[in-house]
Amino acid sequence: MSSTAQIGVTGLAVMGRNLARNFARNGYTVALHNRTAARTHELVEQFGDEGDFIAAESAEDFVAALEKPRRLVVMVKAGDATDAVIAEFAPLLEPGDVIIDGGNAHFADTRRREQELREQGLHFVGTGISGGEEGALDGPSIMPGGSKESYDSLGPMLEQISAKAKDGAPCVTHIGPDGAGHFVKMAHNGIEYADMQLIGEAYQLLRDVAGYSPAQIADIFRTWNTGRLDSYLIEITAEVLSHTDAATGKPFVDVVLDQAEQKGTGRWTVQIALDLGVPVSGIAEAVFARSVSGHAALRDASRHLAGPTARTLGKDEAAAFADQVEQALYASKIVAYTQGFHEIAAGSEQYDWNIDLGKVAAIWRGGCIIRAAFLDRITSAYEAQPRMPSLLSDKSFAEEIAAAQDDWRSVIATAVTQGVPTPAFATTLAYYDSLRAERLPAALTQGQRDYFGAHTYHRVDRDGTFHTLWGGDK
Ligand code: NAP
Repeated sequence: MSSTAQIGVTGLAVMGRNLARNFARNGYTVALHNRTAARTHELVEQFGDEGDFIAAESAEDFVAALEKPRRLVVMVKAGDATDAVIAEFAPLLEPGDVIIDGGNAHFADTRRREQELREQGLHFVGTGISGGEEGALDGPSIMPGGSKESYDSLGPMLEQISAKAKDGAPCVTHIGPDGAGHFVKMAHNGIEYADMQLIGEAYQLLRDVAGYSPAQIADIFRTWNTGRLDSYLIEITAEVLSHTDAATGKPFVDVVLDQAEQKGTGRWTVQIALDLGVPVSGIAEAVFARSVSGHAALRDASRHLAGPTARTLGKDEAAAFADQVEQALYASKIVAYTQGFHEIAAGSEQYDWNIDLGKVAAIWRGGCIIRAAFLDRITSAYEAQPRMPSLLSDKSFAEEIAAAQDDWRSVIATAVTQGVPTPAFATTLAYYDSLRAERLPAALTQGQRDYFGAHTYHRVDRDGTFHTLWGGDK
């Protein structure tokens, strides 16, 4: 057993504990610390035989156990706790030491913390970590921000503990300076919200319109998972749908209260998109759909509202409809990812991060919640055209949507006429049609703005800024 540790982890709840074990399993000596020391001792008692751990009760002992330059991972509740831990440890550290925040921090907090610590000569690496507690143990997708120098010291360790994509590549890359890593993690979660909502809408259509049972829909998802929709989320959807509630014998999905909760990263993605002026309507509808589901009183009071009841299809029609839903799901998914990557590109531009979008897609291929075969295609697209304005500028994605669009439109039309809510399907199609439109009604909006507020407008045929004297006295 070594007397010094190459890495330390403070904050040993589910994520920190599993990350510490992951480092130890990969041969690193890991110093352990937690505000409540009982957790530290519990970890050593339960998993001490998995590798080399040095348990520390005080912050001083923890810091003293780390080899220099020190690398300490903070895995505490995001927010004030992170600031409290930094305030406790920073005075004990020396220039060149690296603090890694693996919590789900808001990137603006990470930018602030990075700047403050940089002034003290410390490196602060705001790091997105995706994959939940299982990923933390077996290999997460890791999105570190911070200085290049900090990545030089930390990168090889992160590459070792990260998930590996099917081609063996580690699912970690230096995302960019200061808040870039947490920004990308935020966008990952926003895309995850959209992906989950789209899957949910596909499920509801298969249930209400095609008339399939949850178990039958699970089989359909399993089939989809062998094709272009191959992904972790489709895989676990099939598992959830085929699960039976032990207490009642009913499909599990029928005994769960239909009110979706959220922790906030999806909301942040939308808030930041609004600030940056990036249209992420698919992600926004996914966040709003969770909010709608949560307004139980509103929904109860509204059940009497008029509308059609979905008509269940016959067997052959249902099978054909399921194929159409697959097309719709795939097309909407492409648009949702297009929007998410646009937000990352806009953040990168705004904060001068120089994020490599192809690499972001590549490190999401393993370990994280949105891991999917499809991400390889996004990487190839950005490798071929790093500066393309949108994923839809890629010819192969555009061709796939062209092939899917008749079914996509037909599924949404069916949902509308049969009264099945499909907000994410509908808004992603509207986005697609907005990009295709030769003229948008924005010209009329500009006219209205000029009329009531003299906000001026630009013309299609002449340079300059114009204002019309509406009715003579406006
Ligand atoms: P958590 O429930 O978010 O936080 C519990 C940990 O924070 C405990 O170690 C707790 O110490 C510590 N803590 C809370 N307030 C503190 C304070 N003021 N000073 C010092 N320590 C404090 O734990 P988690 O679920 O393992 O998540 C850890 C971080 O990873 C979070 O930022 C979370 O957002 C992020 N994350 C979680 C997941 C996931 O799937 N759970 C996935 C990715 C990222 P005590 O034991 O003393 O209470």
